[in-house]
Amino acid sequence: MNTPSVRVAQVALPVPLPQAFDYLPPSEQALPPVGSRVLVPFGRRQLVGVVLNHGPTTTPLKKLKAIDKVLDEALLGEDVLALHAWASRYYAYPVGEAVELLLPPALRRAKPFRSALPKAYQLTQAGRDADAGRAHAQRRCLEWLAAGPVAREALIEGGVQPATIKTLVDKGWVEQTERCPVVKLTPGPTLNVEQRGAVEAIAKGIDRFGVHLLAGTTGSGKTEVYLQLAKQVLDNQGQVLIMAPEIGLSPQLIRRVEARLGVRAFVYHSEMSASERLACWQAARSGQAAVVIGTRSAVFLSFHALGLIVVDEEHDASFKQIDGARYHGRDLAVWRAKHLNVPIVLGSATPSLESLNNVNEGRYQQHTLTQRASDAPQPRWCIIDQRGEHEGLSDELLVKIEHHLSQGQQVLLYRNRRGFAPVMMCQACGWQADCHRCSAHMTLHQSQSRLQCHHCGHQTAPPPRCPSCQDPNLIPLGAGTERLESVLGERFPDHPIHRVDRDVMTGRHDFEALLAQVKTGGPCILVGTQMLAKGHHLPKVTLAAVLDVDQALFSSDFRAPERLGQAVFQVAGRAGRVVDAAQPRAEFVLQTRHPEHPLLAQLQQGDYIGFAKALLTERVQAGLPPAQALVLLRAEAHQSEAAVTFLQLAGQCLAEAGLDVQGPIPAIMAKRGGYWRYQSWVQAPTRAQLIDGVSQHWTALYALPAAKTVRWHVDVDPTEL
Ligand SMILES: [Zn+2]
Ligand SMILES: [Zn+2]
Repeated sequence: MNTPSVRVAQVALPVPLPQAFDYLPPSEQALPPVGSRVLVPFGRRQLVGVVLNHGPTTTPLKKLKAIDKVLDEALLGEDVLALHAWASRYYAYPVGEAVELLLPPALRRAKPFRSALPKAYQLTQAGRDADAGRAHAQRRCLEWLAAGPVAREALIEGGVQPATIKTLVDKGWVEQTERCPVVKLTPGPTLNVEQRGAVEAIAKGIDRFGVHLLAGTTGSGKTEVYLQLAKQVLDNQGQVLIMAPEIGLSPQLIRRVEARLGVRAFVYHSEMSASERLACWQAARSGQAAVVIGTRSAVFLSFHALGLIVVDEEHDASFKQIDGARYHGRDLAVWRAKHLNVPIVLGSATPSLESLNNVNEGRYQQHTLTQRASDAPQPRWCIIDQRGEHEGLSDELLVKIEHHLSQGQQVLLYRNRRGFAPVMMCQACGWQADCHRCSAHMTLHQSQSRLQCHHCGHQTAPPPRCPSCQDPNLIPLGAGTERLESVLGERFPDHPIHRVDRDVMTGRHDFEALLAQVKTGGPCILVGTQMLAKGHHLPKVTLAAVLDVDQALFSSDFRAPERLGQAVFQVAGRAGRVVDAAQPRAEFVLQTRHPEHPLLAQLQQGDYIGFAKALLTERVQAGLPPAQALVLLRAEAHQSEAAVTFLQLAGQCLAEAGLDVQGPIPAIMAKRGGYWRYQSWVQAPTRAQLIDGVSQHWTALYALPAAKTVRWHVDVDPTEL
């Protein structure tokens, strides 16, 4: 018996099903408003959900259950609900993800939402007179607080240990306060002509939607441009959201933003504690936070009066979520800016081909900064043939390192591979140590005497002899950061060698402490992975090198050349950032075994935008993103047949909807963590046709019996193959 006149609440719940669920209002009450947080019965459990809509139901009345409790009425505003509704359709993910995406972790539990001001500390009278003597950590904290209250998070971000705060509170020198922390305003450097031009051009549209791509070479002072614009928005009582990659969200950036804008910056990222995230979420929603700096998940924060969005390092891969709801934080930020009719600035020294394509098609406006803010010239480029060397460093490069060190300068070496050697091989029969759960080699970590799979985490002791032919001569092939550190240590015993990778930089503040030490220190060598390449200003580095580019030259991922170019230009940008007549001319080195490769010749011209435009032309010709939109349908299973069968059936479904389906084919990494991985490519003549077709038909795939035998998902605008 259907009762179409009954109106129900459509509630998003954190369950792996594509639809929302219908509920009646709590007894004797009206339907809670859209955006309310509710507690509902689901099977034998009680779940926290979000009311997405009101509407008629097709469920028989007697089967409908009532909401147990309204936890918070209208907690979420129209703006974020609209963003989520659009995103779940575009990216084809279950609407139930709303609970995860729109609520901070503390509100995903059935506790009532209590408003609490974020914690800050200030000096007591005793604290003002206190002398911490040789307790450096305490002294530093007291000195910091002398200027006024500081938020607890800011203290901790800045390297103060929670134990130090506690000691100072126990001594009666420091106390908690609810006063809102203020920050001393420090004027920035005078902008150069290009920076001023960009600020003026963007400021003309500060009151309305527009996408501005700020393409500024490394060291050109993009951040100062963002901050000038942010200041204007703050002066008009607007809020500013600055999104940055996980790795770029450094305490330096936070302090710089605070110093220039004279307000406390609230931070939002997944490594923070639940209470810290709740505090930021709340401050953004209430308007107390004038500025929020966050990673991709911050795009879903509720704001009181958002007036400007900045996406720094917009090309960075970490803006795309690669599990659960596979959204792109940058692209959603653009949608949100449009919906709110506010401007958005996408900044990068190495813009994505997606953004450059949007400039070409007239959707985004490009502003270019070609000069380094310091007026320092770009480093001299050099490609070195590394054929014949075995431990990752050519003689020619070693001579250059020696030279720069002897001039009192610092050297930065980039190698995106941690561990000692990426391969362990038998010299007699060619056997290699592979992971039995992945199509990948095991990496040798010599100091721990372990073989490690970097894809599934599997670990084992290195075998004493070859398991295949019993020969005892197993040799490490290639060089990761651990081996480079040891080779460099032998070659340059008088200079400190600093390794930077996830194996050694385990604490939250290890890297920042090292950077501070290097900035003021003497000649040294930094060798490390991705962490080292991004945005750090190290004025004494005059030689930077990318040690191995060859894997990217021959990858079957069509994005590999773009990513290589981005890494290369980011590393090159680390060298020679200041004008100093006493420094030798800055140099940048690329090591390769394929010096004749045409991509390297293109890179060597030293013009990223030119390089990227050439790649874009190739993508257009090949019908690849961003010229043509792409959706991947992926499946993985312990038995490859199960994955293939599902993809064939699912592909038929989508093909009947008029979409062009190619596959299934194995993923580039065909097996990972014991699962065989396959994918089908789904395309259509236009993006709109593709998104319409997928969004209308993907939920039907849940009903396929084969769907229950595999792990599968849809990935719209995928960034990994
Ligand atoms: Zn062997
Ligand atoms: Zn593995």
